[in-house]
Amino acid sequence: QAGEPEVEVFSVPSYACQRRTSLENHNAPLTDALSLLAENAELNDEEGRGVAFRRAAALLKTLPSAVMSASQLRGLPCLGEHSLREILETGTSTEVESTKGSERFKALKVLTGIFGVGAKTADRWIREGIHDLHQLRASGQHYADINQPVTRAEADAIEAIVEKAVSSVLRGAQIVLTGGFRRGKPSGHDVDFLITHPEEGREEGLMPKVVSWLEKTTRNSYLESKDGPGRPPSNMDRFERCLSIFKLPGAAETPQRAWRAVRVDLVVSPISQFAFALLGWTGSKLFERELRRWAGHERGMSLSSHALYDNKQVNEGAASEEEIFAHLGLEFVPPSERNA
Ligand code: ATP
Ligand code: MN
Ligand code: MN
Repeated sequence: QAGEPEVEVFSVPSYACQRRTSLENHNAPLTDALSLLAENAELNDEEGRGVAFRRAAALLKTLPSAVMSASQLRGLPCLGEHSLREILETGTSTEVESTKGSERFKALKVLTGIFGVGAKTADRWIREGIHDLHQLRASGQHYADINQPVTRAEADAIEAIVEKAVSSVLRGAQIVLTGGFRRGKPSGHDVDFLITHPEEGREEGLMPKVVSWLEKTTRNSYLESKDGPGRPPSNMDRFERCLSIFKLPGAAETPQRAWRAVRVDLVVSPISQFAFALLGWTGSKLFERELRRWAGHERGMSLSSHALYDNKQVNEGAASEEEIFAHLGLEFVPPSERNA
């Protein structure tokens, strides 16, 4: 009979790790608005609010079609008190608009867009009256490159270099591209690699060798490296992480510079922990957060990039990502569907 067209009421599992989230997003206007609010919260050190907005955005990213009315979202988790209805009806919300117009938000965006500048530094500069790049330059501050997305082609070029470095310093050592590029993203803020060797233990001491090979061999085209964030002291952690800056020959858009800086994240893992490292470093960040939340809250387990422990502290080994999902009681989600 004639009447209201049927509207689909969406139903979605609570945890992002129970869902498939490809790069195809039918609700970009909504998720852009929520991501902006998330970013603003994060830039202001409001972690809890940031996560709430990220979860809401992730939920909308997984829907199979565009949301037409708020009634389709009834009963969905994470979408509670946000101004979604307002955004749906008007295309934006007062909070989104006031954030966009906020001088502080604009300044935080510009300043954290500089290589190596985080929210804390940006906040200090703003309090010193520095809101943009002109004022920063006038203040005499040294500052590095403006962040520019890394393309897939650049990632491939860097992969070839890292591959060469790794196999030159240790025969049989292997690398895998992780992070956003493994999930199929066309660009990223850095390039992430995981390095291992099929024989347990052979990977020990590999990172310094790789780094010094890169410094020596590629002479002009490299490298500042520093150790990653503090590692746990236990000898269980034989990982090493290195955040480096590669100097790539300059892009056409920046003819005034002979090179541009690209962040490269290198992680070494023993083969026994490789599956956990691969899962942990593929992301997305929210997907990882949700995996750990699922493990803890629903399974009484503890998941890291090294291991999975059950509540009796028994170490659940795994030779593949598939096995880890199985241990967690989750359906396997391939990397291209982890773009939550
Ligand atoms: P982009 O394309 O912007 O780089 P990305 O998804 O690759 O996006 P990254 O920040 O490079 O994001 O992080 C990649 C993965 O590494 C994420 O899953 C994140 O959880 C993980 N990761 C990042 N930093 C750490 C850390 N300090 N410890 C453990 N895992 C981390
Ligand atoms: Mn990355
Ligand atoms: Mn990274």
